[in-house]
Amino acid sequence: MQTTRWRPDTCDCVIEYEWDRDLDPSMRTHTVKQVVHFCKHHNRLKKASLWNNVLNENLCKNGAVNALQSYLKIDSDDPELAWRFEGSGGRRVLHVSLPLDSAGELQKAGAQLMLDDMVGLGLVVVE
Ligand SMILES: [Zn+2]
Repeated sequence: MQTTRWRPDTCDCVIEYEWDRDLDPSMRTHTVKQVVHFCKHHNRLKKASLWNNVLNENLCKNGAVNALQSYLKIDSDDPELAWRFEGSGGRRVLHVSLPLDSAGELQKAGAQLMLDDMVGLGLVVVE
């Protein structure tokens, strides 16, 4: 078993999980070994649900940022595509700010529709 310490960029949690390096990546499961640190947003969650929450937030943010970058045809290093999570516990909402030169109302509305479709209603707010 391999142990990895994960510090997601979406919150300050620190989680150690185990995985089997001999398994094909598509077959791997990740088992939480220990929560090294609960961040202030997730400190009311139990260890078992923390993993899913933090992972889902991270996947949601990565997916939304990638989708917006191709939708707006902007560079992946563009610092103007800012994001943050609001709220705490099991249902934090991702807020994404579009760069000024592409933040027309139509494009914002289009981006919002695309993300609602992708991650589900109410989970992402385009600003
Ligand atoms: Zn956290």
